[in-house]
Amino acid sequence: MFSKPLASHNACQHLSIHHYRHMLIQFKRWITLFTCTFLFASCDQPPPLHHETFFILGTLVEFTIADTPEPTAQAAILAAKDEMQRIHTRFATNHSEGETAIFNQLPAHRPFLFSSEEQQLILQAQLLQSQSQQAFQITLGALDQLWGLSQSPMRSTPPSESSIQQLLPDIDCLEPLANQQWQKRVASCQLDFGGIAKGYAIDQGIKMLKAHGIANAIINAGGDMRIIGTKHGTPWKIGIRHPRNATKTIAAVDLSGDVSIVTSGDYERFFIYNDRRYHHILDPKTGYPSDRAQSTTVIADNATLADGWSTALFVLGKEGLPIVEKYGMAALLIDHDGHLYQNQRMDSMLKTAQHPPSLSQQ
Ligand code: ADP
Ligand code: MG
Repeated sequence: MFSKPLASHNACQHLSIHHYRHMLIQFKRWITLFTCTFLFASCDQPPPLHHETFFILGTLVEFTIADTPEPTAQAAILAAKDEMQRIHTRFATNHSEGETAIFNQLPAHRPFLFSSEEQQLILQAQLLQSQSQQAFQITLGALDQLWGLSQSPMRSTPPSESSIQQLLPDIDCLEPLANQQWQKRVASCQLDFGGIAKGYAIDQGIKMLKAHGIANAIINAGGDMRIIGTKHGTPWKIGIRHPRNATKTIAAVDLSGDVSIVTSGDYERFFIYNDRRYHHILDPKTGYPSDRAQSTTVIADNATLADGWSTALFVLGKEGLPIVEKYGMAALLIDHDGHLYQNQRMDSMLKTAQHPPSLSQQ
């Protein structure tokens, strides 16, 4: 009796050791299985993208960050957003404390000392001005004010021919002096960085994200973008919008690494008067909105270049495509009749070009 229970106890103990080993093996298997499942799950379903949108630079700016812990993404976005806001204050014509606005108030022949940041962007814009055969000019500030398309409420009728001619500046109205000093040759020579400053702000925003260790992200400021890295290992897919239908795309392009894509369009700010569309991109030769395109898209190494060139190409029209090609950028243009043109570099980049009936390719 005694031995029986003992025996049974031993047996029980023996069973228990066996059982324990069995359980351990099972547990190990289970741990292994769990780890595998977890790993597979994280491969199949990558952590969600981190999105944040703000109204800065007079437009909606969206930050998208992949493969980054939430607190890091949040801190990086905050720093990038502050930096972009700082640039806007410095370069916007309507921020009275910014150098641009202060310079614009000055009379002719009054030397003004710019900060090196402003000086750099002026020099970049002037290079773009000469490379684009004067299509791009940062001295159209007074004309831009006259057309009133960057203000709210916008104008609804065109200004008089004489007032346009009065404010149409000479191409060299901004005179460089020594040591970052500049002066106007005429009072109407007013700075307007509207065609390039958004791109510069995006570049500085990306610089901030990188400084916070972000490797995979997009900053999208009202359709103008710089992308870095990938979306969980695959390229970011970017759609180019149809100029006459905001819900349609005319093409999609796969981008990865570090590249910018910017679009200028006559649909952003415009009014229709006597069946004619008046928009915010001016031809410096006439002082009137350029009528050669509905939209232009440029892909370049950085957003400052892509932004400046998309505006310049808009003024140049399709004849500008080889010029953009010459400077190593991909470009696409939809002309005033809705025909789509692209340079060779864009040809090789476009993933799909779904041309709507009104668009044909040449
Ligand atoms: P958006 O700012 O709507 O994205 P753009 O980058 O093409 O569009 O810039 C248009 C702005 O550039 C205008 O609102 C004006 O401030 C400025 N601008 C207009 N015409 C020219 C031009 N020929 N060269 C340089 N800047 C221009
Ligand atoms: Mg631009």
